[in-house]
Amino acid sequence: MRSSILIIYTGGTIGMQTDAETGVLIPFDFSGIYDEFPSLKRLNVDIEVISMSPVIDSSNVSPDNWLSLANLIRDNYARYDGFVVLHGTDTMSYTASALSFLLENLSKPVVFTGSQIPIGVLRTDGRENLITAIEIAGTRIDGHPVVPEVSLYFQNRLFRANRTTKRSAEALNAFHSYNYPPLAEVGVNISYNFPAIHRPETSSAELQVASHLSSGIAIIKLFPGIDEGILRSILSTSGLRAVVLETFGAGNAPTSEWFIRTLAEAIARGIHVVNVTQCGDGCVAMKLYETGLRLQEIGVLSGYDMTTEAAVTKLMYVLGKEYSPTEACRLLRTSLRGEITL
Ligand code: ASP
Repeated sequence: MRSSILIIYTGGTIGMQTDAETGVLIPFDFSGIYDEFPSLKRLNVDIEVISMSPVIDSSNVSPDNWLSLANLIRDNYARYDGFVVLHGTDTMSYTASALSFLLENLSKPVVFTGSQIPIGVLRTDGRENLITAIEIAGTRIDGHPVVPEVSLYFQNRLFRANRTTKRSAEALNAFHSYNYPPLAEVGVNISYNFPAIHRPETSSAELQVASHLSSGIAIIKLFPGIDEGILRSILSTSGLRAVVLETFGAGNAPTSEWFIRTLAEAIARGIHVVNVTQCGDGCVAMKLYETGLRLQEIGVLSGYDMTTEAAVTKLMYVLGKEYSPTEACRLLRTSLRGEITL
């Protein structure tokens, strides 16, 4: 049976082509996708395309765009077997992480992809990314989608979206998942890593979209010489609700009295502080060194092996629900969509 796939174009390099007359990059018209890529007809899928309005460079993406995208998927959920989201690479990991939280009870594939070279340029990586993302979104075994979660496909690898980071502004394999294995590797065949793929507990639960993402989130990246006055003023910003603290190594930070006191005072005022490591791979382990233990003692929450992208969007999602502080802390420590290894 053929699968039906909705491609949602949001903007970014993948949707660009060179104007034959002027040589400048202009938007590619995805409604003519079958004319441009006749080989798509050989896939066992029916494709429809929709463009977000306006299409944007992903550096301009906002939480409102994430809510619109999630609502668009919800509104079209019953009509399609899977979704492919074409997105600029710069913030794709943020958008894809946000969608993984927003789409509650997801049981169909939502595959993000993009490209480093515009689709209308001969040497583009976009053609392969697009075609394989469509194939993955449409693949079913015994009537069930093979990858019923939010994923990100780039250069021969399919990743869990909320585990990814854009790691290169140059290489075609621009994305990586440091702390979770690929969900699929693509060579001559697509080889799925079935045990790594999340399956919904019950596929009959209805898709729900969270209606609100909280503002008031900050990222603070530690460095030797961080200034007390600056840290204090960031933490006293009005409207601040949570901080993703990017620490050293296995979750370590200075033990100086002023540093710990400044953080402890913020936590006492109800600000959630989530500890993630600046290292690409590995996990926060606050019990390992005194420099981590002090953070744990004052109530800093471990982000375990979460990416910064996942931590920021998870905070927006969890705090957007306006749970009690205790429940929010519990959810922040829980793996909601496979974003942390516990
Ligand atoms: N600036 C572009 C974007 O993120 C880059 C890309 O798509 O690769 O929208």
